[in-house]
Amino acid sequence: MSRRRETAPIPTTVSDTLNGVTYKRLRYLGKGGFARCYEFQNATTGEVVAGKVVSKSLLTKPHQKEKMMQEIALHKTLQHRNVVMFKSSFQDPHFVYITLEICKKQSLMELHKRRGPLTEPEVRYYMKQIGEGMDYLHNTMKIIHRDLKLGNIFINSDMVLKLGDLGLATRINSPDERKRTLCGTPNYIAPEILVKSGHSFEVDMWSSGCIMYTLLVGKPPFETSSLKETYSRIKRTEYVIPEDTVGPAASNLITSMLMNNPKTRITATKMLQHEFLTEGYLPKRLPTSSLTVRPHFT
Ligand code: ADP
Repeated sequence: MSRRRETAPIPTTVSDTLNGVTYKRLRYLGKGGFARCYEFQNATTGEVVAGKVVSKSLLTKPHQKEKMMQEIALHKTLQHRNVVMFKSSFQDPHFVYITLEICKKQSLMELHKRRGPLTEPEVRYYMKQIGEGMDYLHNTMKIIHRDLKLGNIFINSDMVLKLGDLGLATRINSPDERKRTLCGTPNYIAPEILVKSGHSFEVDMWSSGCIMYTLLVGKPPFETSSLKETYSRIKRTEYVIPEDTVGPAASNLITSMLMNNPKTRITATKMLQHEFLTEGYLPKRLPTSSLTVRPHFT
């Protein structure tokens, strides 16, 4: 017998009664751990947003409800060009709804699957925006994302990157605070989380190093067929940068992000000043065709 509870069908029209807004539920966008995501169209203005729908029947344990409320409370406070904008949250008897700025071009995950290794100008273009988003989260908002990965970095129709899914994010209350626990398994997990020595902002820089490597090389730096072996390589920081395809500045930045010791790892602010991002060709915008085919830079 399936342990998944029966869930009510999602209504085709949903209302945010407090704000007096009605949405028509349109195209299905995708699903995550708890959420199913659709295009929601504001019935009055015609504006289309992303609507995340979470069934209350999946939020049975008190800590699940709490985590979701905490994600909403945290996400609400954020406002930056490279972070998915939170719009509203409301509920009905069966579901919790969250509306977000819509990102019509999916995520870096789909881009990576279609294109494989990207060109350096593309990686420069994407990493600069990841750096800007992280610099805002860390230095302006004192928030660690803790689960930066290709599938959580969304692309809008103007090819602007937006960091999203703040489900594992947390706020740091004093500069030398170290987090000791993490409820979930980040994809690009940092060594200090694996050895439970206390972690902070540096874990996002580690994940960004893994992201940059994956975008340039076409596969993640510590990938093996077994999770145990992957974790062992992460703890020993055992990875190889193919020098024939990755240039010296890119290689130097990846190495600075994948420092085993969080104290010596590059920060978001320093990353933005790194020669890989400040020198070399940085496209002002990328054509949407680059989501499927290698762009020509003239
Ligand atoms: P969960 O928090 O349950 O993991 P996600 O935030 O990963 O859910 O969202 C689930 C899926 O919904 C994503 O993989 C993506 O396909 C889609 N999605 C989420 N947010 C947006 C958005 N702002 N714009 C477009 N699609 C989105």
